[in-house]
Amino acid sequence: MTTMLGISLAGRDVLMVGGGTVTARRLQRLLDDGARVRIVAPLLSPEVQDLVDAHSLEWLPRPARTTDVDGAWLVHTATGVPRVDALIAAACEERRILCVNASDGAHGTARLAAEARSGDVVVGVVSDAGVDPRRAARLRDTIGALLRDGRLPLRRRRAGAAGRVDLVGGGPGPTDLMTLRGRRLLAEADVVVADRLGPTDVLSELDPDVEVIDVGKRPNHHPVPQHEINALLVAHARAGKRVVRLKGGDPFVYGRGGEEVAACLAAGIPVEVVPGLTSVVSVPQAAGIPVTHRGTAAGVHIVNGQAETSESTLAALADETVTTVVLMGVAALPRLVRAAEQAGVPADRPIAVVENGHTPHQRTTRTTLGRVVADAAAAGVQNPAVIVVGEVARAGLLMPDPSLAEGSGR
Ligand code: SAH
Repeated sequence: MTTMLGISLAGRDVLMVGGGTVTARRLQRLLDDGARVRIVAPLLSPEVQDLVDAHSLEWLPRPARTTDVDGAWLVHTATGVPRVDALIAAACEERRILCVNASDGAHGTARLAAEARSGDVVVGVVSDAGVDPRRAARLRDTIGALLRDGRLPLRRRRAGAAGRVDLVGGGPGPTDLMTLRGRRLLAEADVVVADRLGPTDVLSELDPDVEVIDVGKRPNHHPVPQHEINALLVAHARAGKRVVRLKGGDPFVYGRGGEEVAACLAAGIPVEVVPGLTSVVSVPQAAGIPVTHRGTAAGVHIVNGQAETSESTLAALADETVTTVVLMGVAALPRLVRAAEQAGVPADRPIAVVENGHTPHQRTTRTTLGRVVADAAAAGVQNPAVIVVGEVARAGLLMPDPSLAEGSGR
């Protein structure tokens, strides 16, 4: 029978006997846990030598003696010689020191679990019966994948941990376009402060007792003012809650994430930011538009359509090697077009308007600067939409050139 213990090896003496590949693998892990490792082995493999050098570990370059185990909390023996490993294990047994014996078929008093980690949670796999590393590794990997997907109940049930805020970029909408880190933090959250855009399906997967606060900013409706959102984040974190501020796209691209970080820091609340796929890139991409394309567009200018059209935006619009990506630009489109035309941008500059990118309602309107206002009105274009101006928005950019196809057929 086996009892699994979570042992803290940080700062504790661990002896490793043998300098081969098994030692190398385990050594890294023990070092990660903060153990003070000593090695006894006549020779070291290059991997072990590298770790010994990198961490200035103590190495006794000779065969092991039974007295070497004295003073260790844990001994790991992997000499490749079962008789030697058995001697070391016996010496440990006598001294009541836990020992991992890596010889095939051997049973030390301890064995290392195959570990899956997620945040502060560690799940280990061991077997009561003989060692079966492949089975343990497959189980570990499967559990690790579930943990990373946020599909296991990772929320802390016991209060006491300090509150914190994580600004999570949720990407353009689909749950599987979130990052693994964002998904995990969501699974750990007590409070989720969410917007209208970004992943909303994922909210229905949360525990029923997770508090979800919708501060969604609908145009022409009453949004929750930013200073109130900041205050909400701080108040819940102060109350010891794990708060996730879930945002569409990336928190630092027109997401006011910077202001929220500043508010948390000013209040002394620990805060971290998880990047997300920004709609600047991912929404055009959903319509088959690369924002840069070799030989077509070498740069990207990103602009908030609601802001005054600046000189730099006019310069970008006028430069046929630059792609201009406009967010929040539907209402301001006529003004932007007028400014561009006055600045001399050619009327045939290609434009694509991509609505609801990465959702079932995605729609792309391809047009030109001269026609976009009429075409957008005719199509009834609505928010949210990303407007792409530039040669990359030309229909058929990525299609094989039909004349080439004909030529190669001849
Ligand atoms: N932080 C976000 C942007 C927030 S501003 C990001 O990095 O993507 C909101 C604007 O983003 C919308 O007005 C629209 O221009 C754009 N947007 C966000 N999601 C979108 C989607 N799924 N389809 C089209 N546009 C989107």
